[in-house]
Amino acid sequence: MSYYQMNEKLAIDYVKGLGFFSETARLVAREVGDGNLNLVFIIRDEEAQRSLVLKQALPYVRVVGEGWPLSVERTIFEANALEIHNKLVADYAPKLIHRNDQLALIAMEDLSHLQLMRYGMIEMKKHANFPQHISTFLANTLFYTSDLYMDPEEKKKLAAKFVNTQLCKISEDLIFTDPYYDAERNNINPELRPYLEEVFWKKDYLWLEASKLKYKFMTEGQSLLHGDLHTGSIFAGEDETKVFDSEFAFFGPAAFDVGKIIGNFLINYVSWWGKDVDINQIKDYREYLLNSIVDIYNLFHKKFIDNWERDAQDISVKVEGYQQQYIRRLFVDAIGFCGAVMIRRTHGLAHNIDVDGIEDLKKRSKTQIRVLELGEKLIMNREAFKNIEEVVAFVKDNL
Ligand code: ADP
Ligand code: MG
Ligand code: MG
Ligand code: MG
Repeated sequence: MSYYQMNEKLAIDYVKGLGFFSETARLVAREVGDGNLNLVFIIRDEEAQRSLVLKQALPYVRVVGEGWPLSVERTIFEANALEIHNKLVADYAPKLIHRNDQLALIAMEDLSHLQLMRYGMIEMKKHANFPQHISTFLANTLFYTSDLYMDPEEKKKLAAKFVNTQLCKISEDLIFTDPYYDAERNNINPELRPYLEEVFWKKDYLWLEASKLKYKFMTEGQSLLHGDLHTGSIFAGEDETKVFDSEFAFFGPAAFDVGKIIGNFLINYVSWWGKDVDINQIKDYREYLLNSIVDIYNLFHKKFIDNWERDAQDISVKVEGYQQQYIRRLFVDAIGFCGAVMIRRTHGLAHNIDVDGIEDLKKRSKTQIRVLELGEKLIMNREAFKNIEEVVAFVKDNL
């Protein structure tokens, strides 16, 4: 079956063949994709209260259009990663129902009863169980796909299934390169441009550190990463957390997933500078965000080490001192990646609505500068922090 692009009618016809709905079901489809890349249909049988989600890759970047072609093979990576998440962290990912690599589509569990975490955080929603959930997601996916646990031959064979050249290139460019010079693809608030030209783009020392992080991203195939773990790739409810949109999955430095989620919390933290919200409410919410960051990191750390103590296989990693330096490196790199993702979201191609929701462009640029400055300080000082509590204290002192 060769590739054709779905629309609502074709999507209904297609899922009828899956045996998921009853043969007589009257199905309704709605395209809800709000992401940068793909089509997403929710298909419902109202009567039976059953639904699923069909996600299909388009042969180009959706936010840009046909002028930026992109291979649809990225669905294969998303499906491969989702299969692994369904095994390692079944509670925290949508269930994969069906995949069709030729049509570049997956069918998965419908999670529309949950809210996108990013929107929840803009409404100051607190997700009390999130640190518990995401730390398990991180500790299990990052440990059990690494050489700490896997047979080295199996690990290399698995890594060979995740040579995700095109989406890695997007991250290499959009996160680690374009923000550091006046790249055409950047998406720049005109009120921010003078700061970029007169200050930010003159920081060669910062570009150097970003380049070191980029090289690490490109060369350090430690673990299977989600690869795009921001608050727009997570559904969060009272007691539920679901991580989706794993098309950027590849074998990279474990610290990247950890740093990316913390960076997105910090972007939200800073965003309140530009918003007209009651100061006490902001104070309270910020306290919650920083406490969450501490919990996310410390719980991850603990669970990762628990996995290690219980299940590490390779004799070399049991050598005295090895674990300590591994964990230390992971922490330092996570703070570096955290800073890098904060920077890319202010004037790179794709922004966060947390800050872009500030309509007044002058106010927005002031907030963006604070994001940039905090991102820079985290990158530059990353070796100096002893633990996550020190990072959070530093954020408090500086903002
Ligand atoms: P992209 O790769 O283009 O960013 P996403 O996987 O992020 O696509 O999906 C885009 C949007 O579609 C999400 O923000 C969400 O609103 C909706 N969506 C995606 N997957 C599901 C799902 N399993 N259940 C409900 N809605 C979903
Ligand atoms: Mg997405
Ligand atoms: Mg997206
Ligand atoms: Mg995506």
